[in-house]
Amino acid sequence: MLTNDVLDQWDRENFFHPSTHLAQHARGESASRIISGAKDCHIEDRNGNRVLDGFAGLYCVNAGYGRREITDAIAKQASELSYYHAYAGHGTEASITLAKMVMDRAPAHMSKVYFGLGGSDANETNIKLLWYYNNILGRPEKKKVISRWRGYHGSGLMTGSLTGLSLFHAKFDLPLDGVLHTVAPDFFRRENLEQSEAEFVAYCVEHLEEMIALEGADTIAAFIGEPVLGTGGIVPPPEGYWAAIQAVLQKHDIALIADEVVTGFGRLGSMFGSDHYDLKPDFITIAKGLTSAYAPLSGSIVSDKVWKVLEQGADENGVMGHGWTYAAHPIGAAAGVANLQLIEDLDLIGNARDVGAYLNQQMRAAVGDHPHVGDVRGEGMLCAVELVKDREGRKFYDPADKIGVQVVAALLSSGVIGRAMPQGDIIGFAPPFCLTRAEADEIVEKTKAAIHQVLGA
Ligand code: PLP
Repeated sequence: MLTNDVLDQWDRENFFHPSTHLAQHARGESASRIISGAKDCHIEDRNGNRVLDGFAGLYCVNAGYGRREITDAIAKQASELSYYHAYAGHGTEASITLAKMVMDRAPAHMSKVYFGLGGSDANETNIKLLWYYNNILGRPEKKKVISRWRGYHGSGLMTGSLTGLSLFHAKFDLPLDGVLHTVAPDFFRRENLEQSEAEFVAYCVEHLEEMIALEGADTIAAFIGEPVLGTGGIVPPPEGYWAAIQAVLQKHDIALIADEVVTGFGRLGSMFGSDHYDLKPDFITIAKGLTSAYAPLSGSIVSDKVWKVLEQGADENGVMGHGWTYAAHPIGAAAGVANLQLIEDLDLIGNARDVGAYLNQQMRAAVGDHPHVGDVRGEGMLCAVELVKDREGRKFYDPADKIGVQVVAALLSSGVIGRAMPQGDIIGFAPPFCLTRAEADEIVEKTKAAIHQVLGA
């Protein structure tokens, strides 16, 4: 077996890591952690450290680690048929079964699912389909997409543009033309502290209406949003937000893309965020929870309305020129079938709802009154603690102080993984759905201790 020192050296010499400080990593100034195993809610590294993963990887291992039901299904699929493509009507038992399982769970007005590999390519597919759709309908000008500041939709050229976080734009020449960003539905961070929640929603609507009027509704194809802002800070929408936004979109015939890469398949304690907030999307993006990350797989679910137009377009234009070699990969599909079945059999969505509510309630009780905690919020199995310099005046820390990063480091050294969200001093939690109440208590107690360690009692 290779020693840790050798792996560390090879890692720094050869491995170009995503979302990493490249120079510090290459110089050996940042930690490299070699993960070697995992079970349920815990991961283990090669130094024998076992920690509670309060973020389920990248909020994706929803079923928990080490599930034999899923790994056996993958092994069986790999030995029977490790690959065949899905072009020109080809399928496998796994991909066809998974499509049925997804559509049985999706909101009733949705029609079909196109399988990709990850959340970014699924959103890329959605935008291409949307442009195709509007061309078929004879509206070639209707192509712009409205996203929100603090939204996260991936890091490709189009999806990185849709993402509303500066880290993903700076020095990459993004966003591309045709992508617009409107107000982040983040009540805690509203500019005008005098605004009530209802007034803030009215402000979001007003801003959107102004943007549509300025650009022209006939130039805007879609609005994309996560039911709950994820990477932008784990922020549930203010009361009434989605109903008000959807009314504007309907009025102007602007499609809604619900990016459910995080919320799909139970993270909010409901099957989809669209069910949770009564959304009627034209497209739903799915990824992470589809396979609980046991294998890469994503999907673009299209509505009946969209499907009918695409079908009509096929009769006029022939084969649709859009596909990935690994679309509907049988190993991913087998993982998806076993994962969705397991989630249902163990009622893991019910557990996400119950233990998630407990986690949020206990977190609020434990740290909500701390002088440097500005907000504790969450929904289902999502929870966030936002740290502030001055609670009364809601003053934020200088990002250079890296307060969130320090708290997360203290938390990790006590044996719990939380995530320092990229914009703001926000500690995020999105544990596997199988989290127990005792594990929720551990996350809460250790978060409190870490905040006290960095910021005082
Ligand atoms: N959309 C949302 C809401 C996400 O949270 C993510 C990833 O975190 C993506 C899209 C991109 O998915 P991927 O990283 O699989 O490309």
